[in-house]
Amino acid sequence: MSRIALLSETVASQVAAGEVVERPASVVKELVENSIDAGAKHIEVMIRRGGISYIRVIDDGSGMDRDDALLCLERHATSKIRTGADLSAIHTLGFRGEALPSIASVSRFRLATRESQAIAGTEVIISGGKIESVRDSGDAPGTQIEVRSLFYNLPARRKFLRTENTEASHVEHQLHLQSIGHPEIGFVFLNDDRIVRQLPPTKHLRDRIRDLCGSSLATDLLEIPEFATDSIAIRGFLGKAGVSRSSRAQQLVFLNGRAVENSTINFALREGYHTALMKGQHPVTFLFMEIDPAEVDVNVHPSKREVRFRNPTWIREAIIEATRRTVESDRTNWTKTFQADSPHLTPPSEETPPLIPVVEQIVLRQDWNNLPFQFPKPNPLPINQPENFPQTPVDLSVPLPVTIPTLSPIIASPQINSNPPPSTPSKDFKILGVLGKLYLIMENSTGLVLVDQHAAHERILFEEMKKRMEEQGVPGQRLLIPLTIDVSPRDTDWLIRNLDLLHRAGIGLEPFGTGTFKVDSLPTFLSATEPTQLLRQIIEDLRETSSQTSKVRLGEEMIAMTVCRHAVKANDYLREPELVRLVEDLLACELPYCCPHGRPTMIQMSYAELEKKFGRKA
Ligand code: ADP
Ligand code: MG
Repeated sequence: MSRIALLSETVASQVAAGEVVERPASVVKELVENSIDAGAKHIEVMIRRGGISYIRVIDDGSGMDRDDALLCLERHATSKIRTGADLSAIHTLGFRGEALPSIASVSRFRLATRESQAIAGTEVIISGGKIESVRDSGDAPGTQIEVRSLFYNLPARRKFLRTENTEASHVEHQLHLQSIGHPEIGFVFLNDDRIVRQLPPTKHLRDRIRDLCGSSLATDLLEIPEFATDSIAIRGFLGKAGVSRSSRAQQLVFLNGRAVENSTINFALREGYHTALMKGQHPVTFLFMEIDPAEVDVNVHPSKREVRFRNPTWIREAIIEATRRTVESDRTNWTKTFQADSPHLTPPSEETPPLIPVVEQIVLRQDWNNLPFQFPKPNPLPINQPENFPQTPVDLSVPLPVTIPTLSPIIASPQINSNPPPSTPSKDFKILGVLGKLYLIMENSTGLVLVDQHAAHERILFEEMKKRMEEQGVPGQRLLIPLTIDVSPRDTDWLIRNLDLLHRAGIGLEPFGTGTFKVDSLPTFLSATEPTQLLRQIIEDLRETSSQTSKVRLGEEMIAMTVCRHAVKANDYLREPELVRLVEDLLACELPYCCPHGRPTMIQMSYAELEKKFGRKA
């Protein structure tokens, strides 16, 4: 007796549903994508009990005639592709022809649809994949699909569903994606008969983001400056430097209108942010990319969430570049934050009594009175008497990585103390003092500015050393006893191709027999207790990086590791000219907003915020 049998259509659909329909949110995704493909201008989504008991999607799209309304419930029935060749030119969200039959096979399903010119529409009712009735319906033009009792006939699948709240939040996330992807479409979302979201159609993505995420997020975003080559166009919004999240929930990426997940893109975004993103954190992105559909395979995942690129390299480079330009575009605005000069500002006059000394470490010195910047007068309160000050101010020129020759002091040249510089210090900013031996307190035209002196100094050192490394390479220090390191064939290949790069970064590495390398020097400023492990880490990190970025990246990783130890710390006492120099040098940095580990160097609190805190304004 033969052991093989063809599955019935219903069972085959249920098997397919295992891939396409994972939970209520996947039903919503498929239905909304169909509505978008049908040219809808308004889409209403309603769920009850997390979508487990009820889902309804209504659109005002093209609708279907009776033949299509029946055909669309067959497996592999689609209006979106015809031939295999069409697979490489997909312009619609759907194309597999699997969603509707799959959903209908695991629920109690109702489809009502009508074309705009038709006198009557069609209603089809299906339970567990079996058609129960087909008749005329009088609904408005468009399509309405109701899905009740999801997985009622597959108890094993139903058990995998989470709480109603969790399922509802997955649905909401799905709608979040779709509505950001299509600001031109109006969306309404009802949960348990309450309107949760009502998003009017809009021309501008910015408006949709504000309607959906609130205006405070909108102020944290930067618009991607125009970026288009022959093969790719990138637009959208990215979080400013230092804006990050602990999950990828707000890292939205759309490729040809489809929300996608892809490790190349994730990697490129991180790389573009570079040191402006904290380790382990994820950027906030509303990234839109248009590329030739032939360059991307969207048919690698049943729910089309993941995509594969035919040639990831140029896509990665484009995203890195667009991200980098966006993050850097904020520089001018950021720098303006430091400006204290403003017609609305009344600087504290000589007569103004000093503020209550919250600021214990306000640094005061008689001979600074000549300096061309505003500075508080000596405070009569005992707290500021000279003996309270540390006797030996930090000399910032000393703790720099001593092994890098001719590295000039970056901050505070000694003669500043005796001869105040003529008029170079910018009048634009105003330092009020130092709090807790760490935070510079400054004032600008809109309120209070705090600068983390350690983070700022790290950034300054980092950029200085990076420049040096790019110009001169990093000196290596010979190891007393050379190490050997065994690597896999894949890494061997990579290392041999990148020997030059490693040498420039101060790593003396030579092939030493098959699959073995000898290391006889390491960068001097690197105090690795486990050099072998460190090298492996570096190889690991760099293999993923593209050749163009890796050169810079390798050095940066090492520099970032070392500057932290050399930068001024909390509790290091800086004199006024050093503080001024610190701010000036920070303002001259390429990416001044963050230390090399992605922590912000500056935060501000506006008068408006202060007024709110003091109850002056509601
Ligand atoms: P796919 O979207 O991959 O083509 P589906 O099973 O999701 O497969 O849908 C099958 C077909 O049904 C679609 O190709 C489309 O022609 C039609 N269809 C589905 N939903 C709608 C809708 N909301 N409005 C108009 N036509 C629809
Ligand atoms: Mg579809």
